[in-house]
Amino acid sequence: MDCIFCKITSGVIPTKLIAESEHAVAFNDISPRQPVHILVVPKEHYTDVADLTEKNPSALADLMALATKVAREKTLGSFRLTFNTGAGAGQTVFHAHAHITSTAVRD
Ligand code: AMP
Ligand code: ZN
Repeated sequence: MDCIFCKITSGVIPTKLIAESEHAVAFNDISPRQPVHILVVPKEHYTDVADLTEKNPSALADLMALATKVAREKTLGSFRLTFNTGAGAGQTVFHAHAHITSTAVRD
């Protein structure tokens, strides 16, 4: 298994999860670029959000529900939800993931 996020979702790389749903997990980005920087990742492997949308829309809906819940809990209500899609757009890990970023942390 070469995919770093498959290693995280399967527990091969132990990672502290912030939250989990049926189809997705949320954990802190290893290299945060904002005070809040959380990744929300489907448990199954899809290359990017377009692939996830086409192949498993119910898992996408579940991921979005988890991302919304975590964003509301960890920010003051304003946040960005970003899916870099394709190397030209800055995607470096080719397992679909949403970035939740915010300048404001809810303590
Ligand atoms: P992207 O550039 O959109 O593909 O985002 C990949 C993100 O994954 C980057 O923000 C990295 O900092 C993050 N990342 C890479 N490896 C890990 C890891 N082991 N645990 C948490 N975040 C990671
Ligand atoms: Zn993967």
